[in-house]
Amino acid sequence: MPASIHLLPENLCNQIAAGEVVERPASVVKELVENSLDAHATQITIEIEGGGSRLIRVSDDGDGMGKDDVFLCLERHATSKIASSADLFRLQTLGFRGEALPSIAAVSRLTVRSQTAAAPEGWELYVEAGTVKKAGAIGLPTGTTIEVRDLFFNTPARRKFLRKEETEFGHIAELVTRLALCSPEVQFQLVHNQRTILNAPRQHRLEERIATLLGRPLLADLVKVDKSDPGAGLELRGLISHPNLHRSSSAAIYTYINGRYVRDRVVQHAILDGLRHLFPRGRYPVAVLFLSIPGAAVDVNVHPTKHEVRFSQQSLVHDFIAGGIKEALRPGIEVLGCQLPVLDRSHGTSGSYGGTVTLPVAASVSVLVAPQVAEVPQVSEPVVTWAAPAVAAPFAGSYFSSLRIIGQFRASYIVAEDDEHLLLIDQHAAHERIGFERLRREFHGGAVARQGLLFPEIVEFDFKETALLSEYLDPLRRLGFELEPFGPRTFALKAVPQLLAGRDNFVQLLHDIASDLGELGISRRIEDAIDSFLLLISCHGMVRARQKLSQIEMTALLADLDRIDFNAHCPHGRPVYSRLSDPEIARLFRRSA
Ligand code: ADP
Ligand code: MG
Repeated sequence: MPASIHLLPENLCNQIAAGEVVERPASVVKELVENSLDAHATQITIEIEGGGSRLIRVSDDGDGMGKDDVFLCLERHATSKIASSADLFRLQTLGFRGEALPSIAAVSRLTVRSQTAAAPEGWELYVEAGTVKKAGAIGLPTGTTIEVRDLFFNTPARRKFLRKEETEFGHIAELVTRLALCSPEVQFQLVHNQRTILNAPRQHRLEERIATLLGRPLLADLVKVDKSDPGAGLELRGLISHPNLHRSSSAAIYTYINGRYVRDRVVQHAILDGLRHLFPRGRYPVAVLFLSIPGAAVDVNVHPTKHEVRFSQQSLVHDFIAGGIKEALRPGIEVLGCQLPVLDRSHGTSGSYGGTVTLPVAASVSVLVAPQVAEVPQVSEPVVTWAAPAVAAPFAGSYFSSLRIIGQFRASYIVAEDDEHLLLIDQHAAHERIGFERLRREFHGGAVARQGLLFPEIVEFDFKETALLSEYLDPLRRLGFELEPFGPRTFALKAVPQLLAGRDNFVQLLHDIASDLGELGISRRIEDAIDSFLLLISCHGMVRARQKLSQIEMTALLADLDRIDFNAHCPHGRPVYSRLSDPEIARLFRRSA
């Protein structure tokens, strides 16, 4: 017989809601800080212990709550922020569902302390797993402190899913970054295990906030975005990086709609659309962008934790954003690039690459894109194609050394011949392949050869990158990077892979690695991604396309090609060489061979 229908007890409802709202400590921080911002705080202190699983304490100097509200705020669907459904379409606050505090209280030991300016005394409430255990009056300055201890202590299955302390703290720091970027006028302090990680004073300009949160060196490469369409009530303001500065993932794109952080597909797509042809393919800008849009034209009530929205006029908004980005970056800039495989972003366990991405090879702005070989002169018929081996070269031993070098074409290709073929060798691709194979050999033999830096370089990262790099210091060392924690968001770089010695683009490379580490996700281990990191390193260490090579250098390059094992787990890179046989050349000129 089926069980009869019954209403679930309140506490169980809250625990179920907690499953939605409270995914990890960072979600608690988000809810608490948003509440502080909604309460007009000008100073917010976030104290974390043990990555947030031991303690999360958020204190603010906001409006505070009176006695009744201190009790009410822990009830489900209790909110001071909306009263009618019409309010949903003119939200001025970050919260409105009234389910965060009861959900958090259901899965932790929670203390609320609050005092309003008008009340003679403040109130304190202690709640364990959703049940009020203690309440009383206390004296406090105006404002609210909420303390969450032992998150998920009564739901061990969830607690088990918490990751390492550094990782959880990385999520928290990222979250604080998102919130602090859109409220520069509020002072933010973030403390982990008694160590102050961030202290952002009240700032008047977005630039200053970005410098504090994401690193001052960025400022040199940011340009202003400022576009409005008064007719549609649309405004887009903020900063985006110039095509010199880009990242391997979209993690440094911060977007806000009406002051609320969003990570929306339409918005992301519009941004990338706006910078298409300006940025290397597969690369992303650093950006902090604020879109204002009439409340009635956007629905933010889609999901409590997912950052998606719904626009009533999607394509209008899309084109407006894309146009704003395009204008800001102004057309006509192209970036040097080289093709190379990137980390497979799909889960799974293989170390394979998915797709290709264009990577920068120099910071200067000029026109050059690594050319795809296999370009054929257009002849009507018969069609002759250069034979471009897709992956592995069939040659073993001394084939490349035996070639006769004819010369160099456009400072990019070595032109050579054997007895029956004309060959073009892409010097850039060849170097990349040689470097990659060498690094792989070194890595699997223990560690990539390192070169100590005479003066350690202090490198600055954002919080999320810092957390990721801290977690992977050992594997990074095996990859050739000796990083030592220095400040809250800086590392002293003491050694780099020998292949990179003398180059100055480590910093971009480390940002790329951090960003790829962030994409690894829980299901994959760093070992699975090693090849893509080795490839990144080799790409940065190789000879540029467009570099005049001497006869000796060309000979050496060909000899190196003979020394590497092409067939060993080759990346799906570009072909290294291409060749035409004598009869094929004859056919090109419609001669019988
Ligand atoms: P919501 O933010 O969706 O209203 P919450 O559960 O997060 O729901 O909070 C419930 C209510 O508690 C809020 O509407 C607000 O009135 C009150 N509140 C929570 N945190 C604070 C705070 N830091 N300062 C003042 N009031 C707060
Ligand atoms: Mg809230």
